[in-house]
Amino acid sequence: MKIMPRRTKIIATLGPATDSVEIMRALIQAGVNLVRINLSHGTQEDQKRRIALAKSCAKDLNKIVGILVDLQGPKIRIARFASKDGIVLKVGDNFILDANYPSDSGNQERVGLDYPALPSEVAPEDHLLLDDGRIILVVEKVVGSAIHCITKVGGRLTSNKGLNRKGGGLSAPSLTDKDIKDIEFIGDLAVDYVALSFPKTADDIFQARRLVKDAGSTALIVAKIERAEACANIDEIIEATDALMVARGDLGVEMGYAELPGIQKYIIARARLLDKAVITATQMMESMIKNPIPTRAEVSDVANAILDGTDAVMLSAETATGDYPVEVITILDEICLAAERQRQARASIPDEAQFKRHDQAIAMAAMYIANHVPIKAIVALTESGSTPLWMSRVRSGIPIYGLSRHAITCGRMTMFRGVYPVEFDVTQHKTWEISRQALGTLVKMGLLEAGDKVIVTKGDILGVGGFTNALKILTAQPLTE
Ligand code: PGA
Ligand code: MN
Repeated sequence: MKIMPRRTKIIATLGPATDSVEIMRALIQAGVNLVRINLSHGTQEDQKRRIALAKSCAKDLNKIVGILVDLQGPKIRIARFASKDGIVLKVGDNFILDANYPSDSGNQERVGLDYPALPSEVAPEDHLLLDDGRIILVVEKVVGSAIHCITKVGGRLTSNKGLNRKGGGLSAPSLTDKDIKDIEFIGDLAVDYVALSFPKTADDIFQARRLVKDAGSTALIVAKIERAEACANIDEIIEATDALMVARGDLGVEMGYAELPGIQKYIIARARLLDKAVITATQMMESMIKNPIPTRAEVSDVANAILDGTDAVMLSAETATGDYPVEVITILDEICLAAERQRQARASIPDEAQFKRHDQAIAMAAMYIANHVPIKAIVALTESGSTPLWMSRVRSGIPIYGLSRHAITCGRMTMFRGVYPVEFDVTQHKTWEISRQALGTLVKMGLLEAGDKVIVTKGDILGVGGFTNALKILTAQPLTE
């Protein structure tokens, strides 16, 4: 029996722990579908080198690996301490965040800030969460540029840690000058996705999309949901973006971590309903930064995100700086496969659904047939990747092979659950030969077996996007030379 390929996609953040050719190859062989470049760390040169390494290893291994570049966004940070070990705050300690304090002289009494507007935006009783909520300060009073706080939850605090206000509401604009420069930088790097940090509204997405286009990039936009305002505006953000990320690190701080599971379920369900891809991110395998096996709670968390319907699960420090970057992928792969076997009742297409486009109607008809007739696979000949995306919004256990002649489209499809990108050039074959050639190619690749019944979708006008108008049930046969 052929092993079912994993449907959930794995995104691995690159960093110092993944900088060798051996590790990068091992990551890809272990099953990484997309790599994430985090522009909050490292120089543009470091990141350019990492993208090149991922691409060259993927090519050598004959695999398609997507590239996701994550912009830093307006993450508010404290400045630096004079000592590299930082300080230790105890419950009840007074501490001052001072926007006018020299940026490298932090000490036990006060530290500088990289966001000059903060003193004018906070008020007494506000809870400021530092280092992803590990330390909590309560504002006592604001005197000029100095925010006087009392420590509510203490611990070690080191340089440049992030700061959020519980409940959100800080006015920093979503795209910083650094982000705008970083978008220019990715213009010619063949990036598949750009993730936008801390967007609040659909306008933030539109602005990013314009800048990405002006930079000459075809990258799709991922909206990271990590602000309270983004949750309030979730539908307009989903409409405006191409994909979403449940960015649990910052979101958990702004909304309170107890709210996260419910919000995660809501965002995933909403994204799928509105035909967008969705990533679940942060602390998925956190203990594996230092340990070779995950906790039961982490295993359960990943499995639940998959049962919720996430397209992709993402690793951050686990791969970027962790001690077990390859092992974590192998284990995640195993957890995904096991969770996918627990498929609950297959969702069908709602009776009242109305499709705006013919290609969408064909995609839905394919899924209806796939879930009601014994079919081994769906083969979508696609220009833009939208037919496979629609198909993958409907639950099924059937692989969807997205065949495209465009590297851009193949790169995008690496994100979609249950969709496997395959490079295939329709323009190289006679019109009446295309289905046979497509299925023969998949047989040759070991993805189909001779005799497998499959659904093929394509357009009469080949090589043009948006024209999928045909659906056939065919039997796979090997190509005869
Ligand atoms: P970050 O985003 O890793 O860039 O902070 C993800 C999150 O906040 O969860
Ligand atoms: Mn974040």
